[in-house]
Amino acid sequence: MKTYDFKSIESKWQKIWVEERVFEPEKHSKKPKYYCLEMFPYPSGWGIHMGHARNYVIGDVISRFRRMRGFNVLHPIGWDAFGLPAENAAIKHGIHPKEWTEKNIIYMKHQLKKLGISYSWEREINTSSPEYYRWNQWIFLKMFEKGLSYKKKSWVNWCPRCETVLANEQVINGKCWRCESDVEMKELSQWFLKITDYAEELYLGHELLEDWLEKVLTMQKNWIGRSKGSLVDFPVKDSNEKITVFTTRLDTIYGATFLVLSPEHPFVDKIIKENASNEIYGWCERIIREIKSKKPYEEIEKEGVFSGKMAINPFSREEIPVWIANYVLMEYGTGAIMAVPAHDRRDFEFAKKYSLKIKKVIKADGSDEDAIEEADERMGILINSEEFSGMDSNSAINTMNEYLKEKKLGKEQITHKIRDWGISRQRYWGTPIPIIYCERCGIVPVKYEDLPVLLPEDISFSQKGGSPLEKSEKFINTECYKCGGKARRETDTMDTFFDSSWYYLRYISPEEKEYLFNISEVDYWMPVDMYIGGIEHAILHLIYSRFFTKVLRDLNLLKIHEPFPKLLSQGMVTLGGFAMSKSRGNVVAPDEIIDRYGADTLRSYILFSSPPDKDMEWSGKALEGCYRFLNKAWRLVIENIEIFSEKEEFSYEEMEESGKKIIRETHKTIKYITENLEKRLHFNTAVSKLMEFLNSLMDEEENLRDSASGRHSLRFAIRNLILLLSPFAPHVSEEMWEASGEKKCLCFTSWPSYEERFTVEKLITVVVQVNGKVRGRMEVNQGLSEKDIRNEVEKNARIMNFLDGKKIKKIVWIPDRIINYVTE
Ligand SMILES: [Zn+2]
Ligand SMILES: [Zn+2]
Repeated sequence: MKTYDFKSIESKWQKIWVEERVFEPEKHSKKPKYYCLEMFPYPSGWGIHMGHARNYVIGDVISRFRRMRGFNVLHPIGWDAFGLPAENAAIKHGIHPKEWTEKNIIYMKHQLKKLGISYSWEREINTSSPEYYRWNQWIFLKMFEKGLSYKKKSWVNWCPRCETVLANEQVINGKCWRCESDVEMKELSQWFLKITDYAEELYLGHELLEDWLEKVLTMQKNWIGRSKGSLVDFPVKDSNEKITVFTTRLDTIYGATFLVLSPEHPFVDKIIKENASNEIYGWCERIIREIKSKKPYEEIEKEGVFSGKMAINPFSREEIPVWIANYVLMEYGTGAIMAVPAHDRRDFEFAKKYSLKIKKVIKADGSDEDAIEEADERMGILINSEEFSGMDSNSAINTMNEYLKEKKLGKEQITHKIRDWGISRQRYWGTPIPIIYCERCGIVPVKYEDLPVLLPEDISFSQKGGSPLEKSEKFINTECYKCGGKARRETDTMDTFFDSSWYYLRYISPEEKEYLFNISEVDYWMPVDMYIGGIEHAILHLIYSRFFTKVLRDLNLLKIHEPFPKLLSQGMVTLGGFAMSKSRGNVVAPDEIIDRYGADTLRSYILFSSPPDKDMEWSGKALEGCYRFLNKAWRLVIENIEIFSEKEEFSYEEMEESGKKIIRETHKTIKYITENLEKRLHFNTAVSKLMEFLNSLMDEEENLRDSASGRHSLRFAIRNLILLLSPFAPHVSEEMWEASGEKKCLCFTSWPSYEERFTVEKLITVVVQVNGKVRGRMEVNQGLSEKDIRNEVEKNARIMNFLDGKKIKKIVWIPDRIINYVTE
């Protein structure tokens, strides 16, 4: 097979695209805008893997299509460049994180360019550059002004050997992932962002995100964990204190036979101080450590201790004991619950273990009024509930809520499970938090005009870990601008998720010096029209970005409420059924494939192999199929090159049937690909449609070359094939376009349009004869080729019986009317 020289063709066009600034969006454009964005990469030492390639190729097809459709397209790329691996490389190999990061960026950029992704490279951003992170600090200070960033003490995982806080994910079986020391719990002052202020809006905002996968929405909803319920005050016996609990089942309150507090509940502190009880203190400390080191999905054995206090159930006025237990979390609700063992599985287990009272107050369908063998969590009719007995659960909840309000015993309340976002990291390679601590004035925010607080580069890393910033006297020591006294800088840096929460806004005006972005340009470009990334970012990044958008909106910097109304969550790339990974050894590197087959083959294959939201299983065979497909297309153009210099035109009516058929097929293909790229985004069926189209052109090409009108229809079809193919395989398409005599870059050419009248399928009746005798009739689409009609006939067993055992001498095909099999 004659093949095209993909190496020289691909590098030739990549160079031209950059020189002609083909992918740079227009400023002050009258065109409609389209902002297509893929989640930006972390510059790792491994370079671009196949999952990245898939992500970027999907975005590229959409961007190239929209550009040809007349949109002003923004398709940027940058680097999520702060983070732990760079720091670990520094400790391990003695290379500065900055140097390591820059080296990786150069390498990955080279890889991306080889893939031929249509990025606006002039807008490249790097989150580790002061030009970027100064705006992190600016946003932080704005949040500080609004009370949205604050400092509070909290329990954290602490590795005594590395001298640093560990994220929950970095604690493996209670040990440090890096040095395997036992992890301790430590109470540290940390900076938090008040995402809880936006919990309800983040929850309700899902209504605006129609195009998000249900799976992603569910993950976010569970993360936010909204529940509607009641806050109820339980007075503590012989004191002025009260304990407030949150419950979603107020209808069961007569069955509340004890209270349970989280070991971190403030009231527990009071009990400890009052009694100087070492027993409770020691117990709480151990339990807190256990709770913190457990994985979210792990169930722990319920365990508790009696506090020595009694409380009063405000409805039944019964005295009930107050317990402290490990199954109530401070972060959820109020950190205290009313335990209703008869109607809650966890309370039931606990009550059984410690022989606490169980009282049934709801009778659900078919349940026995007396027997209590397990917790029945269903709703039903209230019993043993004084004046509320006989009501059904739902109306009881409403009535009891009114009673609460009237008697001032509590109120109705919506609560969320989501917690404020702790952003302090005892790391070096991140954005310095712009705060100073003055001996006299306390916490003092850095002045806006003093930004950025630069990350010092002359630091030393120790094998011991810990933050190098804490050892940099030059960085730490500063002066308070308020009183002129001595002050120390905050040495914690920001969680890198802060950087990625607003980067999509910085691309819009990366050169902007006065502000974090240019507001009028952001008004033009936002929201992102298509956001593409892996499902692993369903929470964290996608929630944080939504939160930042709302905060910036409330600062009057944005007019939108949601940054990414359309989200495409792409599936994984697998080999042998498993996600490609270095440790499993089932990796195929994009570079390797590009060197062997070219970027266009890799791109077409990635798109062809499965719908974008499904996992794609790597197949070398299908890859070769795509390679052959592109080479066949190229050969079709090269071998018919002379027809492009002909100028003679024919109307549809003047053409012969084979020419008409190709014209119709061309229009149908244009329609199919256009609708697919606009709405369905099933690139796999789009590529296979192009393959079919190419095959029928190859079937007809010789035939069509015979007449001037045939050559006209062939010319029309091939030109459109090139245009339709170009978002998928842009380099070879440009080359073919140029070969066909075009002077203008294909990327600047308009997307083809179709005429509806040619795309309508019309059914006709074809007569099937054997040796001139009518043996059947078939309803088929108008305009089938001889090959297609034979395929149809051969599926019909009854007609085939007439041909059984006979040798076919010839077939006469009168298009759209008669097919006659002549046998010997
Ligand atoms: Zn450690
Ligand atoms: Zn001061």
